[in-house]
Amino acid sequence: MATKSAWNIRSSEAAKNTVNPIRIIVDGMKLEPNPKKHLISLSIGDPTKFGNLPLDPCITDAVHDVIDVYKNNGYSPSVGNEEARAAVAKYYSTDTSPLTSKDVILTSGCSGAINIAITVLCNPGDNILIPRPGFLLYRTVGGNIDIETRSYRLLPEKNWEVDLSHLEELIDDKTRCIVVINPSNPCGSVYDKEHLIQIGKVATKHHLPILADEIYAGMVFQGEESPCMADITDVPILSCGGTAKRFLAPGWRIGWLLIHDRHNAFQSEVREGLFHLTTKLLGPCSIMEAALPGVLKNTPKHFFDKTLKILKQNADALYSGFIKIPGITPIMPKGAMYMMSSIEVEHMPNIKDDMDFVQKLMAHLDVYKRQHT
Ligand SMILES: *Cc1c(COP(=O)(O)O)cnc(C)c1O
Repeated sequence: MATKSAWNIRSSEAAKNTVNPIRIIVDGMKLEPNPKKHLISLSIGDPTKFGNLPLDPCITDAVHDVIDVYKNNGYSPSVGNEEARAAVAKYYSTDTSPLTSKDVILTSGCSGAINIAITVLCNPGDNILIPRPGFLLYRTVGGNIDIETRSYRLLPEKNWEVDLSHLEELIDDKTRCIVVINPSNPCGSVYDKEHLIQIGKVATKHHLPILADEIYAGMVFQGEESPCMADITDVPILSCGGTAKRFLAPGWRIGWLLIHDRHNAFQSEVREGLFHLTTKLLGPCSIMEAALPGVLKNTPKHFFDKTLKILKQNADALYSGFIKIPGITPIMPKGAMYMMSSIEVEHMPNIKDDMDFVQKLMAHLDVYKRQHT
């Protein structure tokens, strides 16, 4: 072996390929806020950021109680504390898809669940299908382990339903799962039973499991229904969730992976594979695990109702403002914490494309005024 003559310490390909596309876009943009204007940030998916969505005291009390008894300061099993797994199983069990504690793995946030779900299903060079527009963590995780993320189209004119024929076109023999985010970040859309059946049919036809990102399960506006994937289809499903959004505590980093396996398709390898991945010990904090049964049991319905009422009011306010702006077409959300609008740059003579729009909006330049040439 030749002795190196200088310090030259490289980072791995895995590190280089682990990128968050949002950072690349934001870091590459020239964003200069107009100092004379007050900036209202509309782009953060953290419900605690602006202090307008208070936590329920039951949630904080559950954590206080756990700390006060001094019993939960040690390691818990790598898949999570048994009592907490049982509590999650009970909370998410339905008649069609009952769960036991063995079907639950506790993770560091929903992101932790996404990480182990993708890692257990894919080898380098495989691909997964993700929605566009969609949550970009899937690209970050995919890049890290050399998984291609292929984006299937969502249809704005059909309330962001999946373009099923496009979804099917993307499938090949290296495809390992279909990711469905419902209710959606960033669209705020909520799929009805019929549409979930259609997605299930595509998965069944190709024998592909579904990775159901259901962190917004139950976060739907009054009058809307939000069935879970596992209730609608018997496709093998890994469903991920957590306390980040619905319980308004993203920093607490507790989430879960639910294993819905009606055909015993995960039995021979995937369950054990998931267990192996948890032994990297990147799971949640023992205090949060111990608090989880209390959080799930005691958080009152009126807390969720109040949060959703505020979210709906905000969506209504944005929608009614945006709809009046020429060239901007908002699509009214049905749940979650987001709303998407289309921007028709043809109506904005001063604007080249979407990136240019964002930069000029930040600088508060008039996007409609025709440039004098
Ligand atoms: C916020 C979010 C997550 C990540 O949740 P954490 O519990 O904070 O890791 C995953 N998926 C979607 C769609 C999200 O919006």
